[in-house]
Amino acid sequence: MKYSLAKLVAQTLGGHRGWTRAWRDPEPKPHYDVVIIGGGGHGLATAFYLARVHGVRNVAVLEKGYIGGGNAGRNTTIVRSNYLLEGNEPFYEFSLKLWEGLERELNFNVMMSQRGVINLFHSDAQRDAFVRRGNAMLMHGADAVLLDREQLRAMVPGIDFDNARFPVRGALMQPRGGTARHDAVVWGYARGADARGVDIIQNCEVTGIRVEDGAVTGVDTGRGFIGAGKVGMAVAGHSSRVAAMAGLRLPVESHLLQAFVTEGLKPLVDRVVTFGAGHFYISQSDKGGLVLGGDLDGYNSYAQRGNLPMVEHVMECGMAMMPMLGRLRILRHWGGVMDMSMDGSPIIDKTPVRNLFLNTGWCYGGFKATPASGWCFAHTIARGEPHALNAAYRLDRFLSGRVIDERGGGPRPNVH
Ligand SMILES: Cc1cc2nc3c(=O)[nH]c(=O)nc-3n(C[C@H](O)[C@H](O)[C@H](O)COP(=O)(O)OP(=O)(O)OC[C@H]3O[C@@H](n4cnc5c(N)ncnc54)[C@H](O)[C@@H]3O)c2cc1C
Repeated sequence: MKYSLAKLVAQTLGGHRGWTRAWRDPEPKPHYDVVIIGGGGHGLATAFYLARVHGVRNVAVLEKGYIGGGNAGRNTTIVRSNYLLEGNEPFYEFSLKLWEGLERELNFNVMMSQRGVINLFHSDAQRDAFVRRGNAMLMHGADAVLLDREQLRAMVPGIDFDNARFPVRGALMQPRGGTARHDAVVWGYARGADARGVDIIQNCEVTGIRVEDGAVTGVDTGRGFIGAGKVGMAVAGHSSRVAAMAGLRLPVESHLLQAFVTEGLKPLVDRVVTFGAGHFYISQSDKGGLVLGGDLDGYNSYAQRGNLPMVEHVMECGMAMMPMLGRLRILRHWGGVMDMSMDGSPIIDKTPVRNLFLNTGWCYGGFKATPASGWCFAHTIARGEPHALNAAYRLDRFLSGRVIDERGGGPRPNVH
């Protein structure tokens, strides 16, 4: 069903009884040309672009729970392309361009809100680093603006400018950055993929990957064996476990990341703002809750919940930046399992097993990458070689030394 204003009016007059299901609930077929493991944003986007761009429609997306139940439905929805390094910036800028046309492409409201992403700086050295990053963004066709204190004060008056422990000197802003509704992105890609013939199979956990003579032949699942010409893994925080089913050991660790939402408020922050003297960021949802996030919990885990020390740390950073937050109540907090790579950058590549492909290492920045990741992974699977935009996201870069260390943290996944 194509969604439109005319359709909405007609359905309203008809008591909303004529809406059809947004995607089917098919039984798995015995064999597919391509099986994608993982029904998060990346897996569904990959299936969509396989069908839409490459004409590969005999595709199944296998999800162990419900689609969007992983990190896709747990993130803080920030979309941006403010990267420095050569391997990263063109990829994320391409992703942002896809975001800008996504609602038209999917015929679905993903609530894309380009409200601007603001990174505060607190010292001359930090300003210089941001100027360098802003220039790299401009040279790649992205947008970047340096704000002084007074410009920033006019935009985000709630920041403590006068008595702060870490005085705010200014900010780097990407006006085209912002937020999108995470669930809607998952549903939009699912609906678009399904309409092109892709089978989305929920409650179907992959428990084994079969390999014969060095090539993948299919997957064992809770619903039986499913044969496949090619298999793509897009399971985010579960990458190490799923890749181990094919005998692969990945340069990825699983870590916890939490997010928080306060009670609803009248409009207070109409941008996304990141603190520069600690790991903290804030935006306001359409319902009025402030959405807050911070650092990893700092230990390996597959539990989708966090612990109190990080709750305290995030709130401390928040109050150092906007003391008024101390008056608010936190309504909810939750955690997700992050696929942290050794250099903080993703991997979209073939694997040593023939016809088995890998998409992982998104750390806590994979939501914004969803469209480009799907686009590039679909290309890599369909053509058997990387797209120019993911050519640097190779699995063997940790052997060759061509790492993409945006944060400069070295080979320690927990600091990226
Ligand atoms: C608290 C938090 C805040 C974040 N904030 C941001 C942000 O503001 N901006 C940003 O860009 N990124 C952010 N991220 C990161 C982003 O959410 C992830 O990088 C991205 O969602 C990962 O890709 P995905 O959507 O495909 O993952 P997921 O949604 O996790 O999809 C993977 C799927 O694989 C399934 N799966 C796992 N094992 C199996 C199996 N054996 N068989 C079948 N299915 C399986 C899982 O159930 C899951 O649904 C955040 C993450 C968290 C947790």
